[in-house]
Amino acid sequence: MLSYRHAYHAGNHADVLKHFVQVQLHLYMNQKDVPYTYIDTHSGAGVYALDGAQASKNSEYNTGIGPLWNATNIPAALAPYLALVKGMNPSGKMRYYPGSPYVADQLSRAEDRLRLFELHPSDCRILAQNFRKVEEHKAEQGERARGRRVLIEHGDGFQSLKKLLPPPSRRALVLVDPPYEIKDDYKKVREALDEALGRFPAGIYAVWYPVLQRMESRQFADRLKRLPAKEWLNVTLTVSTPGPDGFGLASSGMFILNPPYTLEPMLRETLPWLVQVLGKDAGARFTIETGTQVTGAAARMAA
Ligand code: SAM
Repeated sequence: MLSYRHAYHAGNHADVLKHFVQVQLHLYMNQKDVPYTYIDTHSGAGVYALDGAQASKNSEYNTGIGPLWNATNIPAALAPYLALVKGMNPSGKMRYYPGSPYVADQLSRAEDRLRLFELHPSDCRILAQNFRKVEEHKAEQGERARGRRVLIEHGDGFQSLKKLLPPPSRRALVLVDPPYEIKDDYKKVREALDEALGRFPAGIYAVWYPVLQRMESRQFADRLKRLPAKEWLNVTLTVSTPGPDGFGLASSGMFILNPPYTLEPMLRETLPWLVQVLGKDAGARFTIETGTQVTGAAARMAA
C-alpha cells in the first residue's frame, strides 16, 4: 500500500531539519576533491509547489520554511539552505520547496553522481519530469549535460542500496527517508543500514525519523546506535508539546552514521535559533547526542 505523498508535508519543520542537515553534509563532502555518490533511497517527487492542492491542504510549510522565509539574524550555517530555497523562488514569493533530490542536485558537483529511488509510480514520474526541467534549465544556462550523472529508478530503495555499495570512488552520502507509515519501515531501515555498513563502512548515512509515541519510534534511535558504524550523531527538533491524541507531528530527528566532525558544533550553534523561530510552546526544544560504536558481532546482532 502506497498512500503516503510527501507533497502534503512539504516544507514543514521536519523537512527544515532534514534538508538543513543534508545541505551541511553535501558541503562537507564537497571539501574533498574526489567525486562521491549521493544515494536517496526514498526520493519523493523532488520539487513541491507550496500553492498546489496537496501542500496547501494543511499548509504544513507554515510550521517550517514559512517562519524562516522573512526571518532576520539567520545563523550562518542556515544561510546556504535558505539561499537554495530562495533561489527556486526568484520572484520573492514562497512558491516552491525542494525535495532531497533537488537539494542534492544543487549542492553536489558536476563530477558527483546522484542515484534516486522512488516506489510510488506517480511521484517517480513527477521526479523524472522535475529533473528534465532542471536539465533544460541548466542547458539554457549553457551547462553541458553530464550523461549518467543522475539516475532515477522506480523501485525499492531499501533493496537497491546494497547494489550501489561500495561506490566507484569510495565516497558516498546516503539519505534514508521512508514514510514510516507501516511499522516495518523501522526494521527495514536498520537492516538496510546494517548491510550497507558491512559493504561500505566509510559512507555517511543520514536517516530521518519521526519522534512519536509508538514503541517502534521510541526505540528506534537507540537501536541505530548499536549499528556497526564508528560514530553516530542524533539530533532532534521538537516544535511543540505533542497533543494528547498524538495528532500531527511535533518532533523529528536525523540520525547520522559517520557524521563529519564539524556537524555537532554547527548544530549546537544553530538549533537554539531554530527552536526559537519554529517553537510553538514551552515543549519546543532540541537534543543532540553523539557516540562511538561498540563494534563486533554482539552489537550487530543486537541491532
Ligand atoms: N526524501 C524526500 C525529501 O526529503 O524530499 C521525501 C521522501 S518521503 C518522506 C518518502 C517517499 O518514499 C515517498 O515518496 C514514498 O512513495 C517513497 N517510498 C515508500 N516506500 C519506498 C521504498 N521501499 N522504496 C523507495 N521509495 C519508497
